[in-house]
Amino acid sequence: MDNLSASDRGGLRVNVTFYGVRGSTPSPAEGNRRYGGNTSAVLLERAGDPPIMFDLGTGIRSWGLTQPLDGTFRATALVTHLHWDHIQGLPFLAPVDRHGAQLDVFAPVQERGTLTAAFAEFMRPPFFPVHYSELRGDIRFTGVSDHDFEIGSAKVKVRPVPHCGPTVGYRVDLDGTSVVYISDHQAPLHLDRVADSVLELCDGADLLIHDAQYTPDEFSEKALWGHCTMEYALLVARESGARRVCLFHHDPAHADDDLDRLHAEVRDKAADYDLDEVISAREGLQIQL
Ligand SMILES: [Zn+2]
Ligand SMILES: [Zn+2]
Repeated sequence: MDNLSASDRGGLRVNVTFYGVRGSTPSPAEGNRRYGGNTSAVLLERAGDPPIMFDLGTGIRSWGLTQPLDGTFRATALVTHLHWDHIQGLPFLAPVDRHGAQLDVFAPVQERGTLTAAFAEFMRPPFFPVHYSELRGDIRFTGVSDHDFEIGSAKVKVRPVPHCGPTVGYRVDLDGTSVVYISDHQAPLHLDRVADSVLELCDGADLLIHDAQYTPDEFSEKALWGHCTMEYALLVARESGARRVCLFHHDPAHADDDLDRLHAEVRDKAADYDLDEVISAREGLQIQL
């Protein structure tokens, strides 16, 4: 793991680790090896606090392999929405399948039915050999839309985010630092405004992890597919006063060399947006706050 921009404020460090950074669908390929092909999965950790996962995409499997398999596993998942690329890792999160394990899943309130019913529909034969209810650990679902709550010493703020179907973003304030996670964000057609709920989440954040799926040309072709441009992520940061942006949820069509080039072009504009740093999310990256 690389360390990036570490700043020791005299307290315990908050670590943000990326296990999956790809949007839409897993895309393992020779040309994607450096950034990675697993879908959305980011871990927030501080010594003494239970781990918090942002989303349960396919990347979460490899983190699960590092966790206890004796039923002592405890964790919280903050899920932005129920599209496949954000939940497909749950059936492969090995420590949950143990008696005594506990996983708290927060996810947006659904338009119809409960979250438990939605996950039971997603994880059952013939789509998967094991029914959700057969997992041996205790999974507790809580629907959220516009809430504030606490997990240990972390303060969590949830607000709606424009996308396709019920979707939220999360802000976690922990040990004097703030991390905002907005994985999928439908920008307005003219890429010129930011929803008030998003501005509230991002207000002065130390780190904003944000959707960066498209180039301007791609956005013009797919303007209603639920996403935004890389440069729009910078606009969200500037309008909200966030200091650092991490470009995330890469399009499966963007290979490593494409992302290098596209992100370099966006990074050149950081000064125009009054940002301290523009970071490229890739599997294995660890940011210490
Ligand atoms: Zn997505
Ligand atoms: Zn989505």
